[in-house]
Amino acid sequence: MRKLRLILGDQLNAKHSWFKQKNKNTIYLMAEMRQETDYVKHHIQKVVAFFLSMRNFAEALNKVGHQVIYFKISDNENQHDLEKIITRVISDKKIEKFEYQLPDEYRLDEQLKSICKNLKIESKVYDTEHFYTSRNDLTNFFHGKKILLMENFYRMMRKRHHILVINEQPIGGKWNYDHSNRNKYKGEIAIPKPLSFSKDVLSIVNDIQMADVKTFGEIDAENFPWPTTRKESIELLDYFCTNLLAYFGEYQDALYSEHAYLFHSRLSFAMNSKMISPKEVIDTVITYFNNNQDTIEISQVEGFVRQILGWREYIRGIYWKEMPNYAKMNALDNQNKLPDFFWTGETKMKCMQHAISQSLTEAYTHHIQRLMIIGNFSLLTQIHPDEVDAWYLGVYIDAIEWVEMPNTRGMSQYADGGIIATKPYVSSGSYINKMSNYCSSCHYKVKNKFGENACPFNSLYWNFLDDKREHFKNNQRMNMMMALLNKIKPDELIRIKEKAQYIMENLDSY
Ligand code: FAD
Ligand code: SF4
Repeated sequence: MRKLRLILGDQLNAKHSWFKQKNKNTIYLMAEMRQETDYVKHHIQKVVAFFLSMRNFAEALNKVGHQVIYFKISDNENQHDLEKIITRVISDKKIEKFEYQLPDEYRLDEQLKSICKNLKIESKVYDTEHFYTSRNDLTNFFHGKKILLMENFYRMMRKRHHILVINEQPIGGKWNYDHSNRNKYKGEIAIPKPLSFSKDVLSIVNDIQMADVKTFGEIDAENFPWPTTRKESIELLDYFCTNLLAYFGEYQDALYSEHAYLFHSRLSFAMNSKMISPKEVIDTVITYFNNNQDTIEISQVEGFVRQILGWREYIRGIYWKEMPNYAKMNALDNQNKLPDFFWTGETKMKCMQHAISQSLTEAYTHHIQRLMIIGNFSLLTQIHPDEVDAWYLGVYIDAIEWVEMPNTRGMSQYADGGIIATKPYVSSGSYINKMSNYCSSCHYKVKNKFGENACPFNSLYWNFLDDKREHFKNNQRMNMMMALLNKIKPDELIRIKEKAQYIMENLDSY
């Protein structure tokens, strides 16, 4: 039977059972399509990283004897639409059966179901063989529960997969070392030069320009920091274990203006494109830990395992539990527009200037920059979650909707009304000052609420809590914040709100 098998751009799993056997009657199809480049405006590094990884994957399949049909973005015969491409290849190659792997995005899942319905031949869908959990595992685990606590899910996952567990109990005595993960970094530990890969990205940039795909952001053609093959992904993982793991947990929440990556792994793109699996990452890290227990503490390793075995699988489960409604949620009824400086980095707020500029030059910020700087600012200024979502989806190298949206709309913007986060992640300038070195060189004074040089986060914070009182009145976790708000004298609160209003009306001059 002549088969056509579709491989999407984030399904680059060389270990998939599909590839165990070669068959002259099986053709693999890959395509760089405008339908994928144009649903939001993307960072140039993101488009390059995906296309280059796809081309490398197709070449590797070809090399070992699989047949691949590949459409480049600039190919004249590329129709740029999944249905049109599949239908034409089926007809040209006299295909009798169409097969694909479960997409991770709702949009593509719906599209492929509809394509299969319209096809006149048989079709079959396979698992991607990437995640620890299936799409519905989280829904089943929390069946009948109102609160979907990540920590409960994570402990179940540790036990189910026997990770850092002996006799159902956590190694080291604690399930979670979150409290040891909150150190401020002051430059005391040297951070080695980040691993980068020398490769030719110019020809792909040229193809993208020829196809007139609109992108933004910068790219360094000499030093591309992202892995685009399985071999490079494994190199990055080994580099992380050898150089960064020993401090990962400790400085997980730290913010520092002189280092873009600190002790973070930068493995998200390699994992989200499936060049490397979460199991391979966790197994490698644990083997490294077992062999180096004299130099690496359990808290560093547990902090890392939690992100992948816990958060990553949890976020995916929430996405499939809540879609498609999740994409429309705006529980706090935020309506403002994104300021222009999100596209330039031109702001006098040092924390925002650093995080936005880094997003534009690196297509990357680490978790706390995404959550407590850019996300915090977006929520305090009450920007519509659609705008925030579109920006995050376009700018980050690892942004694919299934992981971007629950993190942005849910965890960071609280637009899901508390499905993921039990309270909104908001703070005034003092938290940023505690966790970073930004404030000492900022135009604004972190301790001031009033005056021209007052840190904007301060008045915005209290104004946000006051504006959203109604939404939080039944949320016990907000009681302490609301009690502090209630202690502010009425005339002071009026001044704070006037100041915040002025800032929100003039965001681009801040
Ligand atoms: P490390 O800090 O080294 O962590 C290791 C791995 O853990 C990451 O590679 C990632 O796979 C996983 N991980 C950590 N936190 C999360 C999380 N909250 N959700 C899912 N996986 C997690 N991650 C994405 O992969 N794509 C996104 O589009 C994305 N958008 C985000 C938006 C916001 C507002 C926030 C707060 C977080 C977002 N994250 C996203 C999660 C996290 O910030 C990134 O996974 C991480 O910064 C990637 O860098 P790293 O590989 O160096 O991570
Ligand atoms: Fe950010 Fe305020 Fe600190 Fe400036 S003073 S870096 S605006 S928190």
